[in-house]
Amino acid sequence: MTRLIFLGPPGAGKGTQAKALAAHWQIPHISTGDILRQALLEQTPLGIKAQSYMDKGELVPDHLVQQMVEERLTQPDTEQGWILDGFPRTVQQAAFLETLLQKLEHQGEKVVNLDVPDEVVVGRLLERGRQDDTEEVIRRRLEVYRSETAPLIDYYIGKQKLLVINGNQSLEEVTVEINRAIAHRESAV
Ligand code: AMP
Repeated sequence: MTRLIFLGPPGAGKGTQAKALAAHWQIPHISTGDILRQALLEQTPLGIKAQSYMDKGELVPDHLVQQMVEERLTQPDTEQGWILDGFPRTVQQAAFLETLLQKLEHQGEKVVNLDVPDEVVVGRLLERGRQDDTEEVIRRRLEVYRSETAPLIDYYIGKQKLLVINGNQSLEEVTVEINRAIAHRESAV
């Protein structure tokens, strides 16, 4: 049973890794950014509310994202495992998730922190060219990451759930390192 949370700055390769591993393990890849972008495209009430935050590189308010994740994690396809990509991004979201997972009896989740130097991240984001990848928005997303999301590293170290992975290597090497870290953790438990 694999339940993984991907942490790491924007541009660390969370989406790419999460997608590949989810396909390999045949479990859902739950990206809050993807869900929000889809909602925006369809101009649903959630998408309309989220748009101004996303355009500026700010976080969408916790309660909106939390409700979205709760709805997604209560779908039956999550019973065989899941990968969360881009959630939680604040300590409040992490506390919410912990309570939700207890309620759903989803245990044993691990947190993958993809560690990538700042200059590599900015270069990758500029190359990616997504709508919210302008230099100003990228700079803001990194600031928000540092102030709101980076504290989750210590939060999950405290809970002994954190696996630190060097994200500054090829896609294949990162995948191998993640697999190795998970296998190592499972044999240690
Ligand atoms: P991402 O694709 O993960 O980079 O997310 C794109 C944008 O969606 C972010 O810059 C935020 O505006 C919003 N977003 C995604 N996940 C969250 C979250 N967990 N909390 C708040 N906002 C989020």
